[in-house]
Amino acid sequence: MTERPDVDELTPPDRTLMGPGPSDVHPRVLQAMSTPLVGHLDPSFIEIMDDVQDLLRYTFQTDNQWTIPVSGTGSAAMETAVGNLVEPDDNVLLRTSAYWGDRMAQMARRVGGNVVDLDVSPHAPVDPEDVKDSFAQNDIDVFGFCHADTTTGIRQTNVPELTAIARDHDAYTIMDCVTSLGGVEVQVDEWGVDAAYSANQKCLSSPPGTSPLTMSDRAMEKVLNRDSPTKSWYLDLSLLEGYWGSDRSYHHTAPITNVYALYEALRLVAEEGIENRWERHRNVAGKLKAGLQDLGLEMFAEDEHWLHSLNAVKVPDGVDDKEVIAYLLEEYDLEIASGLGALDGDIWRIGCMGYSAREKNVEYVLSCLSDALEQQGYDVNSSETANVSPMSN
Ligand code: PLP
Repeated sequence: MTERPDVDELTPPDRTLMGPGPSDVHPRVLQAMSTPLVGHLDPSFIEIMDDVQDLLRYTFQTDNQWTIPVSGTGSAAMETAVGNLVEPDDNVLLRTSAYWGDRMAQMARRVGGNVVDLDVSPHAPVDPEDVKDSFAQNDIDVFGFCHADTTTGIRQTNVPELTAIARDHDAYTIMDCVTSLGGVEVQVDEWGVDAAYSANQKCLSSPPGTSPLTMSDRAMEKVLNRDSPTKSWYLDLSLLEGYWGSDRSYHHTAPITNVYALYEALRLVAEEGIENRWERHRNVAGKLKAGLQDLGLEMFAEDEHWLHSLNAVKVPDGVDDKEVIAYLLEEYDLEIASGLGALDGDIWRIGCMGYSAREKNVEYVLSCLSDALEQQGYDVNSSETANVSPMSN
């Protein structure tokens, strides 16, 4: 047999995670993950489940009874929302040119939905006028959109206008708040959202593995009165109700350790207070943004739509984005990310999420990035223009 290192020798590098997620996990959350297991129907675990649901309601700012952590990553929560709300032949309005809109569209098609493309730029917020036009021209049943776009660093600021259009047409809304929940203001009830989902590893700073989902009573009425069952057995909310609802009976074995982690992460949210947490993200990311601009770099998002948790910054001409990323990882154990899809090579994505949203991390990013840019021959002292001198050899 091949000799393998002991588990305590498997120490991964000590990275500072300032990419699009996962973010740094709070030490209290890491500690919660070493809590001994109990059964997934143990009375003590059922108390934790109740608390997790309550804390998720607080974090989503909702009274929705149907608020649970879905087993799986953010895409599983996305698939739960789409797969349960979309019935065969439903018309589903999505901006398919956008990265997450396209993912939702693939899921909607798989469950028999007809995708209607919201044919607008993927690199700007959705304009309610365009949504109104699409609703006027098509009989839309479900409208999905992204509140916090991790690919562009753009925040959708007028969510209540979007949901009002859908309600006027008796349609349902699905909001992706994977990169905002717990870091940037999300108001599920006040904004009139029918289904919202997120992920643990962004502003909640808990490991990936379970993913918050909340559904309004109105949305659940549609789900529970479907003509045909949801295609996925595992993600069928009418069955999951048996475990996360009143019965607490077996559906599948909950990822117990991950639920412990989420519980502790959500307790940290409640201790800090949700508004304070939004403010911390805004302030700390504000320092990051100002520092990036001092380096002569330009943000991708306009100020009004800037997403505090994900700072997309343009790569200056003459600088190799991938070399900068590799240099930061190798020299400083610092993770930032390149652009995804069409923006690959054009932007860097610098997260400012949860436990990573601390001033000390921002100072670290700015000084390491300044060095990395100098290595590329970029003149960090000339702040007005993004000057790049050629490398000396
Ligand atoms: N939606 C958004 C906005 C995301 O940023 C991500 C992941 O980064 C997802 C959905 C999918 O989440 P996951 O990778 O946890 O499956």
